[in-house]
Amino acid sequence: MENYIVSARKYRPDTFESVVAQKALTTTLKNAIHSGKLAHAYLFCGPRGVGKTTCARIFAKTINCEHPTANGEPCNECESCMSFNQQRSYSIYELDAASNNSVDDIRSLNEQVRIPPQIGRYKVYIIDEVHMLSQAAFNAFLKTLEEPPAHAIFILATTEKHKIIPTILSRCQIYDFGRIEAADIVSHLQNIAQKENINSEHEALRIIAQKSDGCMRDALSLFDQMVSFTQGDLTYSKVIESLNVLDYEYYFRLTNYILAGEIAQALLLLNDVLVRGFEGNIFIEGAAAHFRDLLVSSDPATVPLFEGSQELCRQYSEQASKCTARMLYKAIKLCNDCSMNYRASRNKRLLVELTIIQLAQLTSDEADDASGLGPKQLKPIFNKPQSNDSAVAVPQPAHTSSKAPQAQEPKSNEKPVAEKSKPTAQAPTPTVMQGRPEGLRTTQQTSSRTLGGMFSATMKKQSKEQSSTPQSTTPDTAPTAEASNTKQVTTELLIQAWTAFAMQLPENERALSDRMKIITPTLHPDNEFSIAVDNQLVADMFEKESKRIIDGIAHEIGGARLRMKIIVNKVVVERHVYDRTKQYEILKNKNPLVEKLREQLNLELS
Ligand SMILES: [Zn+2]
Repeated sequence: MENYIVSARKYRPDTFESVVAQKALTTTLKNAIHSGKLAHAYLFCGPRGVGKTTCARIFAKTINCEHPTANGEPCNECESCMSFNQQRSYSIYELDAASNNSVDDIRSLNEQVRIPPQIGRYKVYIIDEVHMLSQAAFNAFLKTLEEPPAHAIFILATTEKHKIIPTILSRCQIYDFGRIEAADIVSHLQNIAQKENINSEHEALRIIAQKSDGCMRDALSLFDQMVSFTQGDLTYSKVIESLNVLDYEYYFRLTNYILAGEIAQALLLLNDVLVRGFEGNIFIEGAAAHFRDLLVSSDPATVPLFEGSQELCRQYSEQASKCTARMLYKAIKLCNDCSMNYRASRNKRLLVELTIIQLAQLTSDEADDASGLGPKQLKPIFNKPQSNDSAVAVPQPAHTSSKAPQAQEPKSNEKPVAEKSKPTAQAPTPTVMQGRPEGLRTTQQTSSRTLGGMFSATMKKQSKEQSSTPQSTTPDTAPTAEASNTKQVTTELLIQAWTAFAMQLPENERALSDRMKIITPTLHPDNEFSIAVDNQLVADMFEKESKRIIDGIAHEIGGARLRMKIIVNKVVVERHVYDRTKQYEILKNKNPLVEKLREQLNLELS
């Protein structure tokens, strides 16, 4: 059996040219060698697995090479290069400071440094993880670094530059290594796959690159793992499965549900993700990244910012064409807010669910904004599940706005006729359309089959009050009005609706929103709930907004109208209002000198 060598070792670059990324750094190093202007100490810093040690080795080899090429690369043929490649070079030393960090280790190094090299011009010392040296070792090393022999060159490497003492830093030429871009990792992996005759899909390699987060070493070991797991057939689906990565398919589906306003489907999708063992915030962060990708792929100018294959980019552009930039901004912001609140949240799942509900409301906001149809009305959260064909229906913004003017027409009696006369346009999307605010305005069209229909009856009452245009009650909606009174409200539903209402309040109602978020409503029999507030001022605020809050909650729950009782918590500390005379008296009692002063200065209380 032939010896298996891991890819990270087998394909370790041995020339500057073959180093992945870090082009600026390697060019500078080559120039230094070419011009013969070598410093005595270099410090390579940067995250792990980005090529610090590799570059240090190539650099060390090249400065001792007997016949370096014209562009500053090692020849890999001379005795010095050969001995280094075969790991028997006496001129190049590697020291791992993580395990050799004592003063004695550094002292023996200092002694070695004085002896000139047998072969080559320089003795090169590569000290890895130099930040691990003890304080005493640092001090011992500093002496050598201050006055190094002409033949000594030190290359220090560290992942934690901030731990290096300033006296060392000031004596080194510092090179900062950056993370390796996913695209560079992908092309490197592609090269290896080709050489090893491994069938690999670009998307599969991209997932590996993404997962390794700019660290080539991780990417290579992941690549090896995947090759053995998939037996040399690196397909996207196999890699996704074995790495347990949240696939972009999920986010494409999520976005489709959002565009369609299908909240129930979106919540089921979330459940699916949670069942697979992912944390809610991972899903939300992935969604934010997805919306970001949609945003950059929607504009040819920003397409280069998209990391992925052309085919994937096309898919993104296609979905992006269905979204407005404004909706995507809002979606990213909602996800970002959720991520920030996630750790502090006591009910994480609820927070994520609320965010998804809010995301799914975005399309209706857009439609409202576009059609300019008066004040924004909330959209019900759940449509009653119906036959499958309605779930597929995707109302486009264009679709709804074309419908909106129709909804404004006061000729309510003609509606059913109009509906019948256009079966092709309306028939496939009855449920979804009812769920939308536009649907609510045309109450004649709603049917009692959906929950949306149920509280469209409630909303109708409201719109009556607001618009004062008489609307005939059709027998169709009458029973739903009754149903709304008997709708069972649970504490959980109430709290969800309460929080959802608070979260959707606009920025200029921050005070109310914040108040609401810290109050937990208590449910009582007969559709009554109470909230406890600290003082009368807050109570007044809620009193003033009570109608709106109750309507909003009824709307969120999709049913019963509730009554809200506001309880002012008893103030424990008694407070008094003192007039000036009383204030002065208290002051006087506390300190009699005050009175004396008043007498002497002949002051009077005004
Ligand atoms: Zn050479």
